[in-house]
Amino acid sequence: MSEMLDVANIDALKEKIHGSVVGPADSDYDETRTLYNAMIDKSPALIARCADVDDVVAAVNFGREQGLDVAIRCGGHNGPGLGSVDDGLVIDLRGLNSVSVDPGARVATAGGGCLVGEIDTATGEHGLATPGGIISTTGAGGLMLGGGIGHLTRKCGLSIDNILGAEVVLADGSVVTADESQNEDLYWAIRGGGGNFGVVTQLKLRLHPISNVVAGPMFWPLESSADILRWYREFILNAPEDLNGFFAYLSVPPGPPFPEELHLQKVCAVVWCWTGDEEGAADALAEARAQPGLLLDGTQPMPFPALNSAFDPIYPAGDQWYWRADFVESIPDEAVEQHAEWGEKMPTWKCTMHLYPIDGAAHRVGPTETPWAFRNANWGSVMAGVDPDPGNVEAISSWSKGYHEALHPYSSGGAYVNMMMEEGESRVEASYGENYQRLTKIKAKYDPSNLFHVNQNIPPAG
Ligand SMILES: Cc1cc2nc3c(=O)[nH]c(=O)nc-3n(C[C@H](O)[C@H](O)[C@H](O)COP(=O)(O)OP(=O)(O)OC[C@H]3O[C@@H](n4cnc5c(N)ncnc54)[C@H](O)[C@@H]3O)c2cc1C
Repeated sequence: MSEMLDVANIDALKEKIHGSVVGPADSDYDETRTLYNAMIDKSPALIARCADVDDVVAAVNFGREQGLDVAIRCGGHNGPGLGSVDDGLVIDLRGLNSVSVDPGARVATAGGGCLVGEIDTATGEHGLATPGGIISTTGAGGLMLGGGIGHLTRKCGLSIDNILGAEVVLADGSVVTADESQNEDLYWAIRGGGGNFGVVTQLKLRLHPISNVVAGPMFWPLESSADILRWYREFILNAPEDLNGFFAYLSVPPGPPFPEELHLQKVCAVVWCWTGDEEGAADALAEARAQPGLLLDGTQPMPFPALNSAFDPIYPAGDQWYWRADFVESIPDEAVEQHAEWGEKMPTWKCTMHLYPIDGAAHRVGPTETPWAFRNANWGSVMAGVDPDPGNVEAISSWSKGYHEALHPYSSGGAYVNMMMEEGESRVEASYGENYQRLTKIKAKYDPSNLFHVNQNIPPAG
């Protein structure tokens, strides 16, 4: 426990907060501080489990006045564990998880502590959806404020392209609205700048009429992955925007619904999501089905929230995670060869590499319209080393690093901040590219003392 914190201070915070305050002496401390990535073990001095915006204000003021390092936590899925901090204060937002939907206006209002799945479920009841990620247990707070790549990217853009406004608790404890007409600079900055500018307690999200999709994976043998990737790189960029499909190296999960003879086999895959009319899916996917050696076609009609939670059981909390990422404009033949080589080397069955398309609707937003500078990139790549066994940390990390080093020369420079480890300030700067200076100036206005620095940090211009 930080020496600065005495019992009287903590009691004062407890009195102010409608939620609860958890510290090392509490029986639920370990459960409460545990992060999704079991490789990261952090011991905060205090965790303020906020129930409403007043709690967030009290926690921000407390953290600032006590001189504590302050972390903002939503789903706790951040790779390097930036939703927590040793010896500091965690502002835990999971209590702010209500979602209301205005189907007429096609707008959802979601608490800053929502998981992606909570938003999918609430909007899905109205036959509507907003772009999120591919796993429903990821925090919408972190995912959406950092960018938000998912099954709807080509059709509807990134999550940040669908944020209509936000309620934000600033470093000085004030509560402001950021949207097109109020605090426009803050509205610009939070759409990609993550938790650098304040605690987002509410998001207004644009909804799209998407309810049922035709979706699922197709697998091909590893030996033909170079051919499949060469076909895929042309195909997806020319496909209708109703078709999303991310390319992957993966091992077939060892359980239903996958056929036993494929269990644990390393394959290359494309995970499809067709948002057009169900009848159109056959045509859209015909060319993919015709690629030689197709091992399995798992595409089928399903409600969109079912797709977004289909992979949850493969990736529960508590695995070890190490990942690296890049933005990619094109995939030349030399890069294809490297992919084929490193895909084969996946050291454990949960390791995976994804190439997420970020073209289509995401390309219709200009490179300076949001902090997401790489609007010319066609894919976001991620090499994710994953395994439940802490004994495999070295194997999964060195595979991820080696794969990334081999492919980085073919990338655009910079990476999606939500799929990076703690890789240093220059990597963050490269990821925001031409928008970085503007971000540092907005940071200086809203958080001049860098209270919110436990993140992929954008320091205030000085
Ligand atoms: C299994 C898995 C699947 C993933 N899939 C995808 C995917 O499909 N698409 C994609 O784009 N990303 C994906 N990611 C990456 C994900 O976007 C990041 O890990 C993100 O940081 C997770 O957000 P979180 O709220 O769960 O994280 P947390 O660890 O809770 O928070 C991370 C950071 O986000 C910020 N933050 C969170 N909430 C708020 C808030 N309300 N206000 C201000 N700042 C906030 C803080 O800076 C905090 O440090 C995935 C991650 C995992 C582990």
